[in-house]
Amino acid sequence: MVTRLGGCLCGGVRFEVAGEPRLVGHCHCKDCQKSSGAGHLSFAFFAEDDCTIVGETAAYDVGSNAGGTMSRLFCPRCGSRLFARSSGRPGLIGVVLGAFDEPDAFVPSVSLFVSRRRPWDALADATTLFEEDLRRA
Ligand SMILES: [Zn+2]
Ligand SMILES: [Zn+2]
Repeated sequence: MVTRLGGCLCGGVRFEVAGEPRLVGHCHCKDCQKSSGAGHLSFAFFAEDDCTIVGETAAYDVGSNAGGTMSRLFCPRCGSRLFARSSGRPGLIGVVLGAFDEPDAFVPSVSLFVSRRRPWDALADATTLFEEDLRRA
């Protein structure tokens, strides 16, 4: 089984994921814009059991767009956004693509919350567009 490594900017948090992601895409929702400081965040969802995290993370929980809880995990030292867990997607963990040591290994297939996209943030090519979240598209 393929394993992939990654970590935060300062190296205080490292992770390893095994197997292929369940979903790879971009999220243009307002919370991803705020927490990343960019137009969207790019992520891969893996089975939580297949993800091993080494090092201390901090978390910030907010109500999710779907009415549940979204927990965003980051490095408390350098602030890098790393992981997300959603009560609406139990058993899965989202890992930001930019944190991987080899981020080019992934091919995003979906763009979520394109209704909130900023005009200066171009849509990715060859992705299926969803106005909101997957299930409400
Ligand atoms: Zn760090
Ligand atoms: Zn988002």
